[in-house]
Amino acid sequence: MCENWDDDAPVVATVIPSFRRPGNNDEVWSGNTSNNDRPYYQRSKQYSRGRGNFRGNSREGRSDRRNGRAGDKCEELRVKCSFVGKIIGRAGAKIQELQSESGASIQVTQESNGETTLVKIFGNDSTISKAKELIEELTTDSIKIVHAKDLPQETVEKKQPILDWAKFMQECDEAEAAEWAKYPPIRKQFYKEHPEVMKMSESQVEKFREENNNIVVDRTFKTENSAPIPKPCPKFVHAFHEYPEILREIEKAGFETPSPIQAQAWPVLLSGEDLIGIAQTGTGKTLAFLLPAMIHLEGQNVSREDRGGPAVLIMAPTRELALQIDKEIKKYQYRGINSVCVYGGGNRKEQVAAVTRGVDIIIATPGRLNDFHESGIVNVKTVTYVVLDEADRMLDMGFEPQIRKVMYCIRPTRQTVMTSATWPLGVRRLAQSYMKDPIQVYVGSLDLAATHTVTQVIQVMEDNEDVKMDAVMEFVRNLGPDQKVIIFCGKKARADNLSTEFALSGIQCQAIHGDRDQCDREQALVDIANGTVQILVATDVASRGLDIDDITHVLNFDFPRNIEEYVHRVGRTGRAGKLGESISYFTRADWAQARELIKILEEADQFVPEEIYQMADRFDEMKKRKENDRARGGGSRGGRGGSSFGGMGRRW
Ligand code: AMP
Repeated sequence: MCENWDDDAPVVATVIPSFRRPGNNDEVWSGNTSNNDRPYYQRSKQYSRGRGNFRGNSREGRSDRRNGRAGDKCEELRVKCSFVGKIIGRAGAKIQELQSESGASIQVTQESNGETTLVKIFGNDSTISKAKELIEELTTDSIKIVHAKDLPQETVEKKQPILDWAKFMQECDEAEAAEWAKYPPIRKQFYKEHPEVMKMSESQVEKFREENNNIVVDRTFKTENSAPIPKPCPKFVHAFHEYPEILREIEKAGFETPSPIQAQAWPVLLSGEDLIGIAQTGTGKTLAFLLPAMIHLEGQNVSREDRGGPAVLIMAPTRELALQIDKEIKKYQYRGINSVCVYGGGNRKEQVAAVTRGVDIIIATPGRLNDFHESGIVNVKTVTYVVLDEADRMLDMGFEPQIRKVMYCIRPTRQTVMTSATWPLGVRRLAQSYMKDPIQVYVGSLDLAATHTVTQVIQVMEDNEDVKMDAVMEFVRNLGPDQKVIIFCGKKARADNLSTEFALSGIQCQAIHGDRDQCDREQALVDIANGTVQILVATDVASRGLDIDDITHVLNFDFPRNIEEYVHRVGRTGRAGKLGESISYFTRADWAQARELIKILEEADQFVPEEIYQMADRFDEMKKRKENDRARGGGSRGGRGGSSFGGMGRRW
């Protein structure tokens, strides 16, 4: 038995001091020669069979050269059974190593009491002592868990971190600042409050925000000593009275008043603050970040040639959106500022040529930007104004690594703008990483304003593709010569199906969805924009951010899966001050959306068919029933009112 084993010891003992004969404490017991005490490898074959080859090491007795040698001592240890494998090592490698390092011969015997195993060491005093030391080392380190609070004070003091993190971080910051100090300082303040804005009282400001899509504006991460948030600019001249050329460009575009996001974002951005715009496409968000970008760019003290790279970088999730932003930029001529759009799927060679010719604003999808950045084609060190447009979508599409890689190389003192339709955790993390005390502007939780210029018609119909097909055929045959429609489908296959049906009926149309080649998608947009076709069949993914001014109708062949998408789709018409109409086929399969749809329709003062109210009620009842069932521990019921739509569908 192991005499010295102490189960309560805080540090697990791994090597038990040598077993000493009672009453003979000074004498090392050298073992006897009875068969059972002989080293494992020296025993009969039948003993070793089936127990593996490691134990005792060296069945041939190679490492046993000293064992049995006259004058060799033998010392015994008891080690915890769980360490036996560690001492032996893979294929006996460790025990061989221990032997050659110590000069002793080590045998792990079969003698075990279930807790500890007897290990014998043969050799002289010094080799035995070395072997014991090595075994002790081997079996102690890995399992020794000592809490700092249990250590003697002087040990704790010695264990203080070697690296002073605060100092290290400070040094890193200083080194980074020294590196960036080589670049010209950034100018960010371009805002002078207009006297009329200055005169606006707090309550007038509040009233303006309330009446303009319920603008909510605040610092995202509350910090002390933040500057006050600038008041909104109800008129263009309020924001740009110092920039008459910009005012002329706006006038040329024919806009009457700033959109809500513009009214609040312009004074914020012109003041040099970082901004998060929670707004969807169609709210005027592009111009909200674009005009301040141009003023910022022009206001730096470095010429394009001296800069050696773009000053403004706009990242966008899709080529469509990137191209659309580029188109928007090109509408506004300001001091010869030029832009280039780079995106995956486009002609790389041409894009490289355009970038290397010298560019002020670069609009890019993250993948292609990363490619250009890593190949040294785009130098982002010159960038002083960054926009992450539709950040939530970029994250959804998995672009976070590319965004982070590029952002890491841009000057930390830059001005950063982010737009996002939603405010999920991923977007918040991006904001935290890359923005300095940003101001956040919400323009309503949904872009409801976009739906106010649209007559929204809901057609309740049977959940049957043939029925829908008949309805859509009738609709397109009745399209007037100046009308254009985007028909939304839930799936790519459905979009293809519909296009084929139209083609077979001699109706010209274009389609845009994720499976189509980039050039086909671009052609589709050109064709609908210039009127070559009047019908564009689209899926949600491909249509995100579509901006065609004169779409007169939106037809939801399949009702969208969520109400945000509905609002987005409807907003593809009724743009740029025009009126539009949306038609949505609504079937029993869409009942889960009924309640939210009612809210949207009522808010925009639209007619709500009675069936929609009924569907909403029935859906609520079904949900309640399910909850009650669950509460009673019954789980979900099949059949009527259960998981399928069948029961409910039959009732109306
Ligand atoms: P966006 O939300 O950036 O996709 O913009 C949607 C559309 O609104 C674009 O065609 C813009 O040209 C247009 N737009 C931008 N600002 C205004 C404004 N203040 N008044 C009317 N239309 C605008």
